Amino acid sequence: MARPSRAVDSTFGTCERPGIRLRPDEVPSAEAERESSQPKARANRKAREEMSAPNKSYDPVEVEALKPEEIDRARDAALAAIAAAGDLEALREVKAAHAGDRSPLALANREIGALPPHARAEAGKRVGQARGAVGQALKKRQEELEAERDERVLVEEAVDVTLPYDRVPAGARHPLTTLMERIEDVFVAMGYEVAEGPEVEAEWFNFDALNIAPDHPARTMQDTFFVRGAEDGEDRDLADSGVVLRTHTSPVQIRSLLDREPPVYVICPGRVYRTDELDATHTPVFHQVELLAVDEGLTMTDLKGTIEHMVRSLFGEGLGTRMRPSYFPFTEPSAEVDMVCFVCRGESVGNPDRPCRTCSSEGWIELGGCGMVNPRVLTACGVDPERYSGFAFGFGIERMLMFRHNVEDMRDMVEGDVRFTRPFGMEI
Ligand SMILES: [Zn+2]
Repeated sequence: MARPSRAVDSTFGTCERPGIRLRPDEVPSAEAERESSQPKARANRKAREEMSAPNKSYDPVEVEALKPEEIDRARDAALAAIAAAGDLEALREVKAAHAGDRSPLALANREIGALPPHARAEAGKRVGQARGAVGQALKKRQEELEAERDERVLVEEAVDVTLPYDRVPAGARHPLTTLMERIEDVFVAMGYEVAEGPEVEAEWFNFDALNIAPDHPARTMQDTFFVRGAEDGEDRDLADSGVVLRTHTSPVQIRSLLDREPPVYVICPGRVYRTDELDATHTPVFHQVELLAVDEGLTMTDLKGTIEHMVRSLFGEGLGTRMRPSYFPFTEPSAEVDMVCFVCRGESVGNPDRPCRTCSSEGWIELGGCGMVNPRVLTACGVDPERYSGFAFGFGIERMLMFRHNVEDMRDMVEGDVRFTRPFGMEI
């Protein structure tokens, strides 16, 4: 007997569809066909028929995700997870898992559209209620956790404003700098130019050009720091180097006259050096301001008016000045300048009941030296003394700071202690 073809085999006819493949041992053999009348083989065949038959009882309401118990289960799992979230970060993860796009309730919600119309309302209501409950629980837990966090931050990040601070104290500008700038401002307002020069200076600029003779006592190593030249040997006498640390700012006047054609109006502030030991009233490094005016027809009157204007600008109105004859090699005639004491205004003189510390009850404060520029200096700088005349005035900044602010010890100015500089403020 020939074996029947599969096409006519009713047993397998409905099994020939994609996705279902029979294993070789399931393919009925001819022998099996022969035993088809036996009860066991019949039962197998019946099972296969049931498995492959169209699902006539398919009810969309019974879709797994939309079963009432499934939705309740997803809702309860979400609520439990929300309650268990210990902080906002955990709650964010719970939200993604139970209320996000891929959460069971969101997936169930998506199935509703596939339902027949009569089933949609009920399923929609069920899913909607579950999602609503989850949303509310999320909101409530979010608020609770935010409140908890805010409370914790208030405690953890509290600042005790009564504790002593430990910030690095800010520095302050040095009063010498601010006083020097203030003096510059006074003269710049009168049309003067601020001039600067090197602190390591040629002896010629520092002494010779200023009419200071080679045998002048200032030109010895007792008064002046000499600097060994780069090419000088160790055996060379230091005093012959020809290079010094400038002992005054006057060489800047010489440089200014050589650089410019008259009229020249310059103010030269700067650091100068002398071989003094550091004590309460001396320091080997200090600061000077010198001014120089060279023009046609300048007289001592111009000099006195200029000094009085400066005193007025720095110390106030109504303080007279006086000149006492003196000698400087670079001016002729020369004078020492005094101003009326700005503290007692001279009233302490002969008045033991009102002593004045600032002027030692003398009524006058010594300001500095001045004079008409020596014609020999003008000549050394190539300026015709027949046509031009000039005046110069110089004073020490440290000394002015001492009597202007009652600073008693010069060492305070060089020690760099901010407790000294800060009370002078940020004058600019
Ligand atoms: Zn006084």
